[in-house]
Amino acid sequence: MTKTDILMTGPMLPSVIESLDRAFTLHRLWEQPDRAAYLAKIGPRIRGLATSTMTGRADAALIGQLPNLEIISSFGVGYDNVDVSEAAKRNIVVTNTPDVLNEEVADLTIGLLLATLRQVPQADRYLRAGRWLKAPFPLSPTLRGRKVGIVGLGRIGKAIAKRLEGFDVALAYHGRTHQKDVPYAFHPSLVGLAEDSDVLIIITPGGSSTKHLINADVLKALGSHGVLINVARGSVVDQQALIAALRDGTILSAGLDVFDDEPRVPQELIDMEHVVLLPHVASGSVHTRKAMGQLVVDNLISWFSGKGPLTAVPETPWPRSPKDS
Ligand code: NDP
Repeated sequence: MTKTDILMTGPMLPSVIESLDRAFTLHRLWEQPDRAAYLAKIGPRIRGLATSTMTGRADAALIGQLPNLEIISSFGVGYDNVDVSEAAKRNIVVTNTPDVLNEEVADLTIGLLLATLRQVPQADRYLRAGRWLKAPFPLSPTLRGRKVGIVGLGRIGKAIAKRLEGFDVALAYHGRTHQKDVPYAFHPSLVGLAEDSDVLIIITPGGSSTKHLINADVLKALGSHGVLINVARGSVVDQQALIAALRDGTILSAGLDVFDDEPRVPQELIDMEHVVLLPHVASGSVHTRKAMGQLVVDNLISWFSGKGPLTAVPETPWPRSPKDS
């Protein structure tokens, strides 16, 4: 029996490649010197696409070159790398990897928050530079007594909130909907939440609907004692406004795992001693990345066994409504 042809846009974990190689005929787009010629040749055979928020985009141009594409299996819970409206238009199912990374991302968020407030990387640099031999490390800001606002109280936002409950801090959140079943204060206005918070944690999806949600007005409302933690997507924060706010003391500091044009990070941020910068690692443990990779594989296997996708995104729901099928 001939195997189904799957295209992978960029390299994924060896375990993912091995599993897909076993189950399908896997085509590696990133290894092709002439991508256009390659796609023209194999495009019509491709029925599944494996892509990732980190190493590939499934934009309308690529989707257009795959006329028989049925499913896009994307690595990552965020799928701003996939043109979902184009996929929906063509009846292509898009899957992501939700839930399996909630705990890891929440753990890292707490780590980044504490590292930012208690200046952990700065203290490490201080010791290594031999400066402790001359004077103790200066006293840091604290989490004590702070009010924490979460922007995006979804799966990961709730896991962050659960951890923060153990830190005895006041919690509130902002989103488009008031969730009646959560015990935290809801702010219908983002500026209102920022005004009432000393820490703002951003954990919404990326994409056009959240672009520059965190702008100069929100940062001003957060205030000179305020700390911004962004573990969502770089696009959610107006990076230039953030740099200005950090430079002129509009806010106190920031902990950032995500940036506008990754892996490029503005030199202004790199030069700032009062920020903590991470290379998009919130889900980046061996354990969790393996689980995410397995879900990419399982979605494709399930689909091509006729059992439907395991984790379709809301824009391409499954099962489809009868009128669409
Ligand atoms: P969910 O869909 O479960 O939650 C998203 C939340 O964001 C919801 O509570 C939603 O609430 C809120 N939201 C969506 N749009 C807006 C908006 N325009 N304004 C305000 N709030 C909004 O997603 P997850 O918790 O699983 O993941 C969240 C995001 O975290 C991912 O999409 C990804 O971008 C990011 N992420 C980053 C990682 C990293 O490595 N740094 C790793 C994993 C995820 P409502 O609908 O009420 O508005």
